[in-house]
Amino acid sequence: MTDSSVSTKTTTVRELGAPGPIILLGAPGAGKGTQAMTIAARYGIPQVSTGDILRINVARGTELGKKADPIMKQGGLVSDDLMLPMVQERLKQPDCRRGYILDGFPRTVGQAQWLEKFLETATFGGVRMGPVVISIEVSYNQLLQRLTGRRSCPVDGKIYNVYFQPPQNNEHCDICGSQLVQRKDDKEEVISERLKSYERMTLPLVDYYGKQGRLRRLNGERPVDEVTAETLAIVEGAAAA
Ligand code: AMP
Repeated sequence: MTDSSVSTKTTTVRELGAPGPIILLGAPGAGKGTQAMTIAARYGIPQVSTGDILRINVARGTELGKKADPIMKQGGLVSDDLMLPMVQERLKQPDCRRGYILDGFPRTVGQAQWLEKFLETATFGGVRMGPVVISIEVSYNQLLQRLTGRRSCPVDGKIYNVYFQPPQNNEHCDICGSQLVQRKDDKEEVISERLKSYERMTLPLVDYYGKQGRLRRLNGERPVDEVTAETLAIVEGAAAA
């Protein structure tokens, strides 16, 4: 099979609606979750947020949740022996067959290498696909304000920011009226640990995927609609490549 026949086949399948794996890279607070929700809705593929899966386990008091909870509270990274089986199980679910958006994974070069191996045997719409990697970049000061101001609705998941996108009625959801909540790890003392572990462990992934020619960088400090438009354009562009 020639290279061009491989790329023609990939194009066809992506055009038919199998976007394959999409990785959103970015510091905590860069807007990965917000963008992931939009891409998920646009393509009808799941948003796989490892942070959300862990938080559900913590809330349910599972064994995994009990082990992850103290690490998350300190802003550290949960170990690969807990993370990798959890991610593998999620990515093998039937709703991942056409693709998925990874939000918060991989977070280390080791996790990226594991994912590469995993993708060697995975197919999307029957075809093997490498990931589209989008790095959402935001300055340190902006991240701090976004994280300390972040609140979310526990019922419908809508995200607010008390500084930039406040709810109309003080700390209550505009849609359903529920009292908004702050993530435990969005407290100031934990935030600096999370940003440090991001710089040390996750930032090297920009280089890792850059060298593979997979990385698309975008300025995440612009209004959210502009960032969304560019994110979708990148995914569309990759789909047609
Ligand atoms: P997030 O919602 O992505 O900010 O994740 C919240 C917390 O969950 C992180 O601070 C880590 O403690 C943990 N976590 C999420 N994803 C990973 C991952 N890929 N590897 C290790 N720990 C993770």
